[in-house]
Amino acid sequence: MNSRIALALLPIALAASAAAAQNTPPAGDPKATEQWEPVPPVVTPGQRDAAPPSDAVVLFDGRSLDQWEASKDHSPAHWKAHDGMLTVDKATGNIQTRRRFKSYQLHLEWQIPKNVTGEGQARGNSGVFLASTGPGDEGYEVQILDSYNNKTYVNGQAASIYKQTPPLANAMRPPGEWQAYDIVWTAPSFAADGSLKSPAYVTVFHNGVLVQNHTQLQGETFYIGKPVYKPYVDAPIKLQAHGDPSAPISFRNIWVRPLD
Ligand code: MG
Repeated sequence: MNSRIALALLPIALAASAAAAQNTPPAGDPKATEQWEPVPPVVTPGQRDAAPPSDAVVLFDGRSLDQWEASKDHSPAHWKAHDGMLTVDKATGNIQTRRRFKSYQLHLEWQIPKNVTGEGQARGNSGVFLASTGPGDEGYEVQILDSYNNKTYVNGQAASIYKQTPPLANAMRPPGEWQAYDIVWTAPSFAADGSLKSPAYVTVFHNGVLVQNHTQLQGETFYIGKPVYKPYVDAPIKLQAHGDPSAPISFRNIWVRPLD
């Protein structure tokens, strides 16, 4: 094979090996990608109001789950809508939007139960995947976790880009209070051959405090191993049903404004 053809086939070979990696159980040491220092400073957030603006797509209004489906099989989402909120059902797994998005502004609120137990990553773990590229935990995760008084690796605490970038500050409210994320997601773009044309960027406010400032992503966020980009055009937004044994968390007031 001449070198020009070999080069042309390289993205296909890379995509194939990435796909193979998706289908095999992760190997290696998860601790290899944990960062523990420096610990982001603690900031006490103020109060703020975030009703959806007139042009928003309302994804959860406190009652209807019509905008959501189960990630594993696209059946109707089975999480429980009650009392104006949506509570994770760990048994039925991740849920995602029926709509697909490129770049957008997203608002969502979440609450760690007051009686939460556990520690580290096993204390109120969930997450919002800004682009879900597979039925499991594939995609680009902004971590959701009880980080009020709960030590873990800092690139895995609340408002981190999971296993990539710690938040600039820890703006957590205590368990039992509502937390807000306001997120600006600039989707990555890919050339026709699948190579990365422009990386993804994300800006995140946690309870009104800037915690990710136009952060460039290195690829999808993995539990084990280095981030890798996988080409996609548009994708659902996914909420994580994490397998930790602590009580499930809840969401409310979720809306999105597509930017393209
Ligand atoms: Mg998570």
